[in-house]
Amino acid sequence: MARVYNFSAGPSMLPEAVLRRAADEMLDYGGSGQSVMEMSHRSKEYGEIIGGCEALLRSTMGIPDNYKVLFLQGGASSQFAMVPLNLRKGGKADFVLTGQWAKKAHSEAKKFLCANVVADSSDKTFSYIPKLDPQKFDPDADYFHICYNNTIYGTRFHALPDTGKVPLVADMSSCILSEPVDVSRFGVIYAGAQKNMGPAGLTVVIIREDLIGNADESVPTMFNYKTHADNDSMYNTPPTYAIYICKLVLEWLRDEMGGLSGMKAQNERKAGMFYDYLDSSALFKGTVDKADRSLMNIPFVTGDEELDKKFVKEAAAAGFVNLKGHRSVGGMRASIYNAMPVEGVIKLIEFMKEFERQNG
Ligand SMILES: *Cc1c(COP(=O)(O)O)cnc(C)c1O
Repeated sequence: MARVYNFSAGPSMLPEAVLRRAADEMLDYGGSGQSVMEMSHRSKEYGEIIGGCEALLRSTMGIPDNYKVLFLQGGASSQFAMVPLNLRKGGKADFVLTGQWAKKAHSEAKKFLCANVVADSSDKTFSYIPKLDPQKFDPDADYFHICYNNTIYGTRFHALPDTGKVPLVADMSSCILSEPVDVSRFGVIYAGAQKNMGPAGLTVVIIREDLIGNADESVPTMFNYKTHADNDSMYNTPPTYAIYICKLVLEWLRDEMGGLSGMKAQNERKAGMFYDYLDSSALFKGTVDKADRSLMNIPFVTGDEELDKKFVKEAAAAGFVNLKGHRSVGGMRASIYNAMPVEGVIKLIEFMKEFERQNG
């Protein structure tokens, strides 16, 4: 069967060139006579893979030398607990509630510290990014948490809050590597890999060094950033194969996409075409405030649930899969991460126009 265009929110598409390369190397990686999956994580070959992955991530994102890159497991969801367990000092942190993931980060942190809500957009189903009043920021907070791109609702921060000395912590699961970011503005960046970096099973944490080593004695070894920082993410077995695929994705990004600035241009082109169509359509409508629109996740509706269902079904039959929206928003959602080719977006828009012609 031909490959489909997969608009899933995650796990999501990987670049076809990466899958082909992985297939070529499946049985014999670089003349080692083994698959990367079978290799000792302590072997010389594997050392080059994980070291190469980190070096590429550092050069791609411009990660300063005073930041550590950690390759962990447990998903972004584990970071909701690891961040407070490691950054807790005074026992207070600030949160902006912009969606379900932000809410989960907040409720998990509440188990460990006093988690203050600075702003909240739940009143309109998280369809916008709330205005932040710096007066409400706690200057003594241990950290300030945002979810940079809200995967479910399709909003994103376009400007970062100025938190002064308070470390800014960002969940970037669904937007990491989609455009350049100034890493030095953050104390911690974390992301589950399965949207823009590689397969599920790998979680990347980028953390400023002074935020490591402050966890108290009671924090389990595996949940302490210091354990992983001191052991180059090799305290225990890292998700070896996922890291290898992440390295291939980073090579693709560098060699085929022109790095993060090239990636950003392509992502803006894809999202721009999609939003332009939504704004001109008489049938389909975007669900979020225009100023806060995401580059990666685009929810939309027809306003008629039966018609939404028909659309999702017919789109799937035509090779555009996983367009059903999250149950809390309804309708449809097109996740157009880095690996979604421009052509996939163009063809989906053509399909939508035809659907509109027949059903509008
Ligand atoms: C997908 C996602 C998560 C959850 O990630 P897991 O790796 O499944 O724990 C958290 N935050 C955001 C923004 C996400 O998109």
